[in-house]
Amino acid sequence: MIIRQFVSLVLAGLLAAGVVVPASAAADDHVDQPRWSIAIHGGAGTLDPDKMTPEKRAAYEAALQNALDAGKAVLASGGSAVDAVKAAIIPMEDDPLFNAGRGAVFTWEGRNELDASIMDGRDRSAGAVTGVTTIKNPILLADKVRTESPHVFMMGEGAEGFAATQNIETAPPEWFATEARKQSLERMKANALSSLDVDHKFGTVGAVALDMEGNLAAGTSTGGMTGKRWGRIGDAPVIGAGTYADNRSCAVSATGWGEYFIRVGVAQEICTRLRFAQMIDFDSMIEGLKEVVSEDELTGGEPSDFQAYFRSEKIAQNGADNVMAEVKELGGDGGVILVTPEGHALYSFNTTGMYRGRATSDGMNEVAIFGGEGGPSDTPDH
Ligand code: ASP
Repeated sequence: MIIRQFVSLVLAGLLAAGVVVPASAAADDHVDQPRWSIAIHGGAGTLDPDKMTPEKRAAYEAALQNALDAGKAVLASGGSAVDAVKAAIIPMEDDPLFNAGRGAVFTWEGRNELDASIMDGRDRSAGAVTGVTTIKNPILLADKVRTESPHVFMMGEGAEGFAATQNIETAPPEWFATEARKQSLERMKANALSSLDVDHKFGTVGAVALDMEGNLAAGTSTGGMTGKRWGRIGDAPVIGAGTYADNRSCAVSATGWGEYFIRVGVAQEICTRLRFAQMIDFDSMIEGLKEVVSEDELTGGEPSDFQAYFRSEKIAQNGADNVMAEVKELGGDGGVILVTPEGHALYSFNTTGMYRGRATSDGMNEVAIFGGEGGPSDTPDH
């Protein structure tokens, strides 16, 4: 009886919150065909359309499409979500436009210290590295940590020692260093600015994917924030903060002011909310609901309608938006990309822009930079 009362209360609460289930809710969201989806980001931040030249925009769009194509090719040929995530991230790590791998920001001491993480939603195996300085593609080392070691998280020299046992390609420090990023550090020091003042956008890269087997994966790679010191580590390599994947709910990769993303546990928080929404026992709930609302209000409220509704794009988007609103409330900013087991590929960000792209087996293909440029579910304002 207590459980029934609780269920009644929850359902009444959902109705009160405006969750009204239509007679045939979101039937399209059922998974009956093998499908794939992918979303990528190249960092969120204070992007000003007036300062974006057509050439610069074209360069970013081409780089994003290139990364998206690499991930799409893996998924469309039946490859795994983990392989698609790595395939999409590698070109962005190699491209100096992004703050990951080559083109990473500088630490206070003038080094490029790289972080990366990856997670397989099938078994929640995860790998992460922080503070590596000689690994050409840190996402590949993170994946080796996941598959070839008993650990999840390795740092600095230790991680590089492990890389040496795994045939991981290395590169000298000059490979990562770019003049533009060096100048950002100099400007920061000369004018006593914060990293946010000089970075404007975060520039971390990430990818999330659903493969045709129904498996999810997420990965993130970054140089962190300009002028980071004292061994500062952001959210990108922290499983649960910058990266999370669980086949039961979603795969998320984040970019933004890492301290806030760690405090909120953004990536896992989004997945947990979606998982809880799907764990509801709708038969009991509807029985319970009948005790507190009239039959009229229940019209169309069959268990399958509720199930479909709680797996809809709207619920996934709301889950991500609500968690990003929490980040904002605490004073942080940034964004996330996510894919769900149903194939929804979504973004949520509380900055003026986020370099981003998404594609699905249904034919969607989009790259976008500023808020509102993407498709219908592209909701930048919170
Ligand atoms: N989240 C990263 C960090 O805090 C920065 C970024 O997204 O670019 O290190």
